[in-house]
Amino acid sequence: MDTIVLKFGGSSVADNEKLKIVADKIIQMKEKNNNVVVVVSAQGKTTDKLIAEANELSDTIEDREMDVLLSSGEQISSAKLSILLNKLGYKAISLTGWQAGIYTNNTNQNAIIEKINLTRINKELQDGKIVIIAGFQGINENMDITTLGRGGSDTTAVAIAAALHAKHCYIYSDVDGVYTADPNKFDHSKKLSALTYEEMHTISSEGAKVLHNRSIEIGEKFNIPIITKSTFNDKPGTVISDTIEENTIKSIVKKETSRISIIGNGIIRNFDNIYKVLNIIEQEKLEILEFLVEEAKIIITFKNVVSDEIVSKIQKIILN
Ligand code: ADP
Ligand code: ASP
Ligand code: MG
Repeated sequence: MDTIVLKFGGSSVADNEKLKIVADKIIQMKEKNNNVVVVVSAQGKTTDKLIAEANELSDTIEDREMDVLLSSGEQISSAKLSILLNKLGYKAISLTGWQAGIYTNNTNQNAIIEKINLTRINKELQDGKIVIIAGFQGINENMDITTLGRGGSDTTAVAIAAALHAKHCYIYSDVDGVYTADPNKFDHSKKLSALTYEEMHTISSEGAKVLHNRSIEIGEKFNIPIITKSTFNDKPGTVISDTIEENTIKSIVKKETSRISIIGNGIIRNFDNIYKVLNIIEQEKLEILEFLVEEAKIIITFKNVVSDEIVSKIQKIILN
């Protein structure tokens, strides 16, 4: 039987109605006879709210206490989802990070997973249960709760997938894949059907917070295909794996610093497009600070703030 790991982010588990949609997705996977392990984030903006409330109490919060507080958000969603699945007739169990055997180093607030003891997870899977793990948390050598840094539930999911030798790790969120730029900010961004781990890493480092950086590193190290999909539609998502798509062009824009990065195999062969981009830069009287061309990456940094319109024009040229 294949094992798959599904991760649902904060917007996917924000309220009871959304939890029902998530439960349906999980049931569909379970019906295909898979061993299903689910990782969840805290509901909606819970983590932000907890941080704000703690800051109202003190401006010298101990990292250890902050981790105890923040880890509670993921516990709430895991328990609610398990309650719902059991009610729907599917055996499920929620586990905190430590119950799931996730051991980290001692760096509170930004801990790194060091090992995973699968005893409990395997036992529950053998009992036919859907295992629901609170993301973003583990335990250190002092048995203190640690958290993995903002967005860290992605890392929990991929690390669990690696430990279980899972076939796939699905990351469900409010967007149906990885785009050339944040689809909530840029109308002309396009969905990418496939990316290598390295390409995804570059996109993340350029500012797209769609996946936690360490999750991509773990995916690459253990060769776990990561599939990002939407919780709210069935469109095909983006597959991040070690498979290279020839001649595809991928770009990502970081508007704040007026920096445009274009990455992807094959882009360097498209010099025509680069000349067209240079023409636009000249026409618009933009000043270039840096024009860096590497093997599969072009980075243009501007002295000026580049408008969305120009960014879209450049994107269109590169992606055509
Ligand atoms: P979750 O809460 O499910 O973990 P995140 O908020 O961490 O989801 O990540 C999804 C968000 O990432 C999207 O709502 C989108 O606005 C943003 N995002 C930024 N850059 C990109 C990109 N290149 N492709 C897709 N989404 C992106
Ligand atoms: N709840 C945590 C955060 O908001 C972790 C996560 O969502 O992955 O950062
Ligand atoms: Mg996230």
